[in-house]
Amino acid sequence: MESGGLVSDDIVNGILSERLDHDDARRGFILDGYPRTSVQAQALDAMLTEKGLHLDHVIELEVNEDALVDRITGRFTCAKCGEGYHDRHKLPKVAGVCDICGSTDFKRRPDDNADTVRTRMAEYRAKTAPILPHYEAMGIVDRVDGMADMDHVAASIDAVLDR
Ligand SMILES: [Zn+2]
Repeated sequence: MESGGLVSDDIVNGILSERLDHDDARRGFILDGYPRTSVQAQALDAMLTEKGLHLDHVIELEVNEDALVDRITGRFTCAKCGEGYHDRHKLPKVAGVCDICGSTDFKRRPDDNADTVRTRMAEYRAKTAPILPHYEAMGIVDRVDGMADMDHVAASIDAVLDR
């Protein structure tokens, strides 16, 4: 994982299977970003059946790719206090000076670039989106607007999980 490569399905499924056997997973669990491929979805189905478990909900966070690229590519943070800023949406009140702590040192994450976002989205469309019909047939897919503000997204997910 540290080298940025993909971990094989067998390893991921083994880790997941073991984790689901822990006591704290008995009342329920959330899988974030998994399964990502139809092979993983099939393995997950088989694993859950074997454990006598099933999925109650599948939540798809819907995003607008261009808006996502716009948000991510402009992000930077104060190197001292970590306050978040944005080139187009949230600049410091005084140019080059952090609103919170007055530091003039800022940093950007190297992976916050348009190519990374577009590559991830293309991968999602090619490999992950095709597994949705399988869960749609089970009647458990809900869509949440992933472009809304964080509190709204969290509340929408809570509403689905409370059902
Ligand atoms: Zn600061």
